[in-house]
Amino acid sequence: MKKIHEILAHHNSDRTRLMDILWDIQHQWGYIPDELLPEMAAKLGLTELDIKETYSFYHFFLGQPPAKHQIYLSDTVIAKLHGYQAVYDALEQETGCVFGKKDATETFGLETTPCIGLSDQEPAMLIGKEVFTQLTPEKVSRIIRRLKNGESPAHIANPEGLASDTLAYVHTMVDSNIRDRGALFFQGEKDFKTLLDQLLASRPEVVIKTVSESGLRGRGGAGFSTGLKWRLCSDNDEKTRFVICNADEGEPGTFKDRVLLTESPKEVIFGMITAGYAIGAQEGIIYMRSEYFYLKDYLEKQLADFRALGMLGKSIGGKPEFNFDIRIQMGAGAYICGDETALIESLEGKRGTPRVKPPYPVNIGYLGKPTSINNVETFVAVTSIMEKGAKWFKSMGTEESAGTRLLCISGDCDAPGIYEIEWGITLNEVLKKAGAKDPWAVQVSGPSGDCVSVEKDGNRAIALEDLSCNGSFMIFNRSRDLLAIVQHFMQFFVNESCGICVPCRSGNVDLLKKITRVIDGKACQKDLDEVVVWGKLVRKTSRCGLGGTSPKPILTTMEKFPEVYQVKLVQQDGPLLPSFDLKESRRGYQDAISALNDRRIES
Ligand code: SF4
Repeated sequence: MKKIHEILAHHNSDRTRLMDILWDIQHQWGYIPDELLPEMAAKLGLTELDIKETYSFYHFFLGQPPAKHQIYLSDTVIAKLHGYQAVYDALEQETGCVFGKKDATETFGLETTPCIGLSDQEPAMLIGKEVFTQLTPEKVSRIIRRLKNGESPAHIANPEGLASDTLAYVHTMVDSNIRDRGALFFQGEKDFKTLLDQLLASRPEVVIKTVSESGLRGRGGAGFSTGLKWRLCSDNDEKTRFVICNADEGEPGTFKDRVLLTESPKEVIFGMITAGYAIGAQEGIIYMRSEYFYLKDYLEKQLADFRALGMLGKSIGGKPEFNFDIRIQMGAGAYICGDETALIESLEGKRGTPRVKPPYPVNIGYLGKPTSINNVETFVAVTSIMEKGAKWFKSMGTEESAGTRLLCISGDCDAPGIYEIEWGITLNEVLKKAGAKDPWAVQVSGPSGDCVSVEKDGNRAIALEDLSCNGSFMIFNRSRDLLAIVQHFMQFFVNESCGICVPCRSGNVDLLKKITRVIDGKACQKDLDEVVVWGKLVRKTSRCGLGGTSPKPILTTMEKFPEVYQVKLVQQDGPLLPSFDLKESRRGYQDAISALNDRRIES
């Protein structure tokens, strides 16, 4: 019990730091033991139920003791194109346990998990904070054998024992796969001291004006003007303000933030310092998904380097009024925390339930104070704008989409990885760059985006005013089963819905049932008509972006690939009520009668 006192004391028994407290407990005990709850509740001013309710929301917090080696296999659509099932089977065979359970000796536990940010090198899995990529059954067999022989996951993943705060360690774990560079990203080391001097020589309002004039729009997906967001935030009378870096990239198929945090962490940090100075914030927080735990020590080291240079902390650059520091907050596995208000709730130590908007975070955000939340890529772009100017940035891209951006390309292509493109490039040009093989469909912006047809949309521009893209770019060739892909995406949304509002909570389940009915060959035209009506309704009436976009995999494939649906429909000369399965219904009726009779006999 002494340890729990220490953990609570370390966090000043601050209930808003519940995520950190839970992580510390889990790192100490391996899970969140029930016997700690009374002490925690008393010190944090919560009930035991509050704590349970919170941690049970997150995929990676455990309420029961895990196996010695808890393995999480990423189950994305992309993994399923690249040998996922063989790896899944090999894991079960080699460990002697089945997914969702532990083996008899509690040495191994197997779980699947949504995208872990590695779609360019799947199948992939996590064991603790260690990452294993490009898995094959043979590789799985070797890893499990070594674990059985007593080696640790850390030693297998990092045999040379590299320090976890070095780039070499991060590279040992995961490849960055940067395939194509442009004018902005990955340009080598910058002179941050000089950049800071230049920044502080300008007034905050001038910095905001520069960012506004650059035309930079947020890279998280919504495309809101960064300069305008900063101005709205700085216009508040409330003087306590926050800058948050959203590094919770959970959109399946997205992995650019992982690569930027690996290759350009200082640009991210400098972008946050710029925001802090511009809006008058005192604290910055990097909210990072827990799948990227292996990056944490490395990023802490980058922050420490900035502090040592006097670029974070008190009186930055000799300006007594500019006090700004940054901390890292780890998430715990919840896609919805990519939503900015859900992220704030999580940061405050609660379930990641999106808030009703307005009010917007720029007015009432973290701890009720004005908060600017920007994406990792947005902060890197800010750093380049500070270095090279708004005009330079605006000279690239299109009228409404200035600059360049990163695409995370995965799926059926020769060279999956990171590509820097200038906004305005066509879909076909991107496919050519990536060496796409017989491309048929592209899921642009992940499951929450559009599925487009290469034949119909190949000449469309990747730009906010045409084919908007949040970075995820998944390519599927003609051998792929689009309906199975749609079903996978709908299951993902059903699993990830926070459940607070009905249209999303039950509407997505209904849509999943409909797509399953189509796949099973039981749907008729009326089912598809209902999908359109229900899908639009879910989009319109849901509280946040998850429900606002979740029907898109069905709706956009129905629009672009109607033939894949039509061939599965029950034909006109089929039964009058094709959605009614007479055989199944009769069997169910007979089962019910038998059960009733059994009960009568027993009584
Ligand atoms: Fe939660 Fe879905 Fe409603 Fe968003 S739309 S608040 S995820 S239930």
